Amino acid sequence: MGANEQAYVKEAFDTNWIAPLGPNVQAFESAIEDFVGNNVHAACLSSGTAAIHLGLELLGVATGDEVLCQSFTFAASANPIKYLGASPVFIDSEPDTWNLDPVLLEKAIKERIQTGKKPKAIVAVHLYGMPYKVEAVHAVAKHYGIPVLEDSAEALGSSFNGINCGSFGDMAILSFNGNKIITTSGGGALLAKSKETKEKAVFLATQARDSAPHYQHSHIGHNYRMSNVLAGIGKGQMEVLKDRVGARRRNFEFYKKHLGDLEMISFPEEPKGYFSNRWLTCILTPSLEVREKIRKTLEVENIESRPLWKPMHLQPVFEKETSYVNGVSENLFEKGLCLPSGSSLEEDDLQRICTIIKGELR
Ligand SMILES: *Cc1c(COP(=O)(O)O)cnc(C)c1O
Repeated sequence: MGANEQAYVKEAFDTNWIAPLGPNVQAFESAIEDFVGNNVHAACLSSGTAAIHLGLELLGVATGDEVLCQSFTFAASANPIKYLGASPVFIDSEPDTWNLDPVLLEKAIKERIQTGKKPKAIVAVHLYGMPYKVEAVHAVAKHYGIPVLEDSAEALGSSFNGINCGSFGDMAILSFNGNKIITTSGGGALLAKSKETKEKAVFLATQARDSAPHYQHSHIGHNYRMSNVLAGIGKGQMEVLKDRVGARRRNFEFYKKHLGDLEMISFPEEPKGYFSNRWLTCILTPSLEVREKIRKTLEVENIESRPLWKPMHLQPVFEKETSYVNGVSENLFEKGLCLPSGSSLEEDDLQRICTIIKGELR
């Protein structure tokens, strides 16, 4: 936490705004809109998953539809497709950004159209804070007239050609879960392109109540709005977002400086024009064996590291879904590792981690 979160939460208590609306919600939304820019309209919600659910619903995804989804991601990118009775079609990654492969994406779209089913939406993810190939992905999407839901859960503070992540998709989502770069303990936001769409999102997120003195409903709604108490934390967190991005990027640079010379370790680079918040520092090793050797050595020292996300097309729950694969995400899952990456890591901590890894690989 930064300096002011507790004060804003206290303000919510002092003024008795303990509800899914209030001044902190408005202030948090304004701070997000000012930061992301590009005229996005933010609706703060109870989670990033809720935002994806609502976003896909607003893009018209319904029972029987197909939604193209990046396979290399966290399950929350794909689960809401199933909530809506639709089917995910998983698309593998390209090796530069580890995100949606635009060539495979186009191949999939062509084939799905040939089988008589034009995909209803595309879920593209800026994984680990690295922007996906924005120009190529959106060119394909535009060519076929398919809307993009931009999963920016891990990429608040990242940008491409100076334009912030969260403003590229027809809709975008953020997450403020405990593990993200800033947090409200749990929370998320849907970023829309117009005030009308935002208002529609808020309407659906608050049980879709018609305007009448009694409780009247003409739509099925959700209970997805963020509370004013948690928004107080979010308002304070926005004040330290830039510091947090700085801290994460310093972690990455430290690891790269101290481990970059090792033959067995490589780091994902930012292509020209790409700016990653470096949410987590990821490394690639030559094999599953080396990756596990590093992970287990750290574990013995009570230091947690984790394999990269297991691709959705390899998950038991999505086994039967269609997928378009090229081996990239499987390879990353096998050989990649996320190193400790918290914003509060001290140089001593980082030094200790590097010394242990170097000792093991020497
Ligand atoms: C965290 C995350 C989500 C979901 O956000 P929650 O707030 O945890 O529901 C979605 N997509 C990705 C890529 C994430 O990392």
